[in-house]
Amino acid sequence: MRCPYCNYDESKVIDSRSSEDGSSIRRRRECLSCGGRFTTYERREETPLLIKKKDGTVEPFDRGKLLHGLFTAAAKRDIPIDELDLLIDNVENDARSKYRTEISSKDLGDMVLKRLKDLDKVAYIRFASVYKDFKDLDEFTSELEKIQ
Ligand SMILES: [Zn+2]
Repeated sequence: MRCPYCNYDESKVIDSRSSEDGSSIRRRRECLSCGGRFTTYERREETPLLIKKKDGTVEPFDRGKLLHGLFTAAAKRDIPIDELDLLIDNVENDARSKYRTEISSKDLGDMVLKRLKDLDKVAYIRFASVYKDFKDLDEFTSELEKIQ
């Protein structure tokens, strides 16, 4: 599991708990390089949430990638990481309850934007300005890095 902030690949688990229905385990991790904290989920017997991209290809939802994108959009904005983490929790839960197993990258992006707008206007504008053209999160994040 790579650190979403610095990409280092070793972290330690600082907290771990099961969801109420026991279908997933939530782990808080701390990066051994930069000390950044992030959350990972391990789900049991659940189909992964799939993202359908503009070019028609489908890839599994990658929480770390999205967090890295948000973290980049929120650079120097003093937004607590936990807030970004929580935003992703909420988006993922909404996506799962509304779309079940597959969501288009556009719908996913719209859900992120809606919540980001309430959280921080500057991060919202950064995210929105790049998001409209992006094909996948890797490309999107590298675009965001350019406009810092
Ligand atoms: Zn790190």
